Amino acid sequence: MSELTQKDKAHVWHPFTQHHTAGTPLEIVKAKGIYLTDSEGKEYIDANSSWWVNTHGHAHPHIGEAINNQFKTIDHIVFAGVTHPKAVELAVRTVGYMPENLTKVFFSDNGSTAVEIAMKMVIQYWHNKGEGKQRFLAMQGSYHGDTFGAMSVGQRGYFNAPFEPLFFDSDYIDFPNGNNEDSILEQAESLFASGEFAGMIIEPLVQGAAGMRMYSPQFLDQLSTLAHQHNVLIIFDEVMTGYGRTGKLFAMDHCSVKPDLITLSKGLTAGVMALGLTVASDEIYNAFLGDETTKALLHGHSFTANPIACAVACANLDLFERKETWETIESIGNWNAEFAFELGELGCVENIRQQGTILAFEIKTGEGNTYFSDIKMQAYNHFLKDGILLRPLGNVIFVNPPYCIAKDEYQKIETSILDFLTQGTK
Ligand SMILES: *Cc1c(COP(=O)(O)O)cnc(C)c1O
Repeated sequence: MSELTQKDKAHVWHPFTQHHTAGTPLEIVKAKGIYLTDSEGKEYIDANSSWWVNTHGHAHPHIGEAINNQFKTIDHIVFAGVTHPKAVELAVRTVGYMPENLTKVFFSDNGSTAVEIAMKMVIQYWHNKGEGKQRFLAMQGSYHGDTFGAMSVGQRGYFNAPFEPLFFDSDYIDFPNGNNEDSILEQAESLFASGEFAGMIIEPLVQGAAGMRMYSPQFLDQLSTLAHQHNVLIIFDEVMTGYGRTGKLFAMDHCSVKPDLITLSKGLTAGVMALGLTVASDEIYNAFLGDETTKALLHGHSFTANPIACAVACANLDLFERKETWETIESIGNWNAEFAFELGELGCVENIRQQGTILAFEIKTGEGNTYFSDIKMQAYNHFLKDGILLRPLGNVIFVNPPYCIAKDEYQKIETSILDFLTQGTK
């Protein structure tokens, strides 16, 4: 163990990590473009975009310049009673990409807080209107973050079992699998008909943490239509799907029926700074106006609208305004489709799915959960050996690279995956 990893072991508590059994963490000393370099000089392709956040590659000069310039201009200031140019620029540009009903931007620090704020807006919207509706509809397998509100509308299970008695009750519709859509819509309609539902929260088109599970925009349109017919506010949690992942800037761009609230984080700052946005409709915002302070959204974070994070988010948008970015996004989509076809020829994988820059499939195991985690570690280590950082979710392997990946780098990932699959079935 190196000195750094020894000190890490002594004092650092990592996310989603059982430290009793966890191996030594990979010591990364440099990140540049698509590559991460470890302390021994070995390079790894960042195939999952550093936990799905990186958009344009590491150490992008345009992002670096934005950080430098902003630090010299305003580093950080209070955002209650004060404003600053980069927060306003980000708000204006963000709503410029949104459907016209979404016009008001609230700033926070991460995806979970963006979700908490969206849910608080929904609850208080109905409260301010004198209606006591508080219930949320969510989807089986959903992930909306690790804070209490977000966990209360997420998939219940071993990730959050100790806290479950403290969650508020939510209702869950099944995940659409191509055969059950009609019955899900019936289920949703009969729940909505109770009149108790304040909102519906959903990961549009792709459930990330559940294993990059995908469903159609047509289904989401039907579900959203039902929600609106029953006066249920819709939150699209675009924390993972936002910023090009699905092949368009936002997943909702594939849909005809638009939500009332959007949450954004991960790709928002090119994967460089901690920032979250909750974008709300005028209708929601207006319900918080009045002479009484108590009608306002009395919520805020120390680092609300941090100017450096806002400047980086604006620089991220600059890069999305370059034609080359969309050309690469399209190429990744094409490579994914070709690779999906190739994978379909193999007997050892199933449920191959693709949406834009995300490709996912399952390794057939036919065994219990422990075997899943075995496969996960075997695959993870195999990819590392080949110079690829790719973290499977159980037996789900998925690729969602930064948008600067070149064809030969993508092919390297393909080759490594194919090697693993064919060796694994010997
Ligand atoms: C990652 C994620 C979150 C939580 O975001 P954090 O920044 O990790 O708190 C919420 N919703 C979705 C869909 C996510 O993928």
